[in-house]
Amino acid sequence: MNGTFLLIILFLVVAVPSVAGLFVRRQIRTKGKFGLGPLRVVCPNCRSPQPFIREPNSFKQMMFGGYTCETCGTEIDKYGRAQEA
Ligand SMILES: [Zn+2]
Repeated sequence: MNGTFLLIILFLVVAVPSVAGLFVRRQIRTKGKFGLGPLRVVCPNCRSPQPFIREPNSFKQMMFGGYTCETCGTEIDKYGRAQEA
């Protein structure tokens, strides 16, 4: 074990999580595909709250989140915006 190896480990432990954190923060701010949505999403069409535990009805919803309103059938992304079909 030499100094370079320790530096690489230090880099992995310190730099990678902070870069990942910055990436997720930026995704949330710009509402990107890999960001996190709010915990409670309300249908933009009929205002009914969407269940927190959701059953994805498409591959896209499974990968990136999103809802289909049970009341009016509107496709909603994880940020609560109506999606064009
Ligand atoms: Zn609705």
